[in-house]
Amino acid sequence: MARTVEDYLNLSVYGRSAWELERAGVDLVRTACQLGGSRPWLVCPDCGRRCGVLYYIDLMRGTLACRQCLRLVYPSTRETRLDRLVRRAQVLRHRLGGSTNLFNPPPGKPPRMHWRRFSRESRKLAEVERRFDLSVRAWCTRMESWLDRKIPSET
Ligand SMILES: [Zn+2]
Repeated sequence: MARTVEDYLNLSVYGRSAWELERAGVDLVRTACQLGGSRPWLVCPDCGRRCGVLYYIDLMRGTLACRQCLRLVYPSTRETRLDRLVRRAQVLRHRLGGSTNLFNPPPGKPPRMHWRRFSRESRKLAEVERRFDLSVRAWCTRMESWLDRKIPSET
């Protein structure tokens, strides 16, 4: 399973003192901004890329590197198909001003929403919830057959 940035501690270029960065063995560079002044960057000790944040688990053991070097992904990339469908359905339900709980009936038309938009969003929601339903059924079927193999019935 992919590790995410949340599995690591991070060192941001902002709010860090020079001595702290020096102790961590990180170089700081600055690039000029268009409107004058400059923007600070951390230099990844591994690949030398400029970045705003470096990640580590244990500073003393020197495993400080950028997201690319550590092959970290953002949490949303790790979502399963079911997670994505739930989140999508919740966004649509929220847009319709209804409950984000998928066990509740789909929301009715909000007073200020046009019928055309309401029916378009409702169709989207119905489609997402249909796919969610199919995914849950498929998951249950897989789980049942897994249990059947684990616990043979006594007939
Ligand atoms: Zn790097």
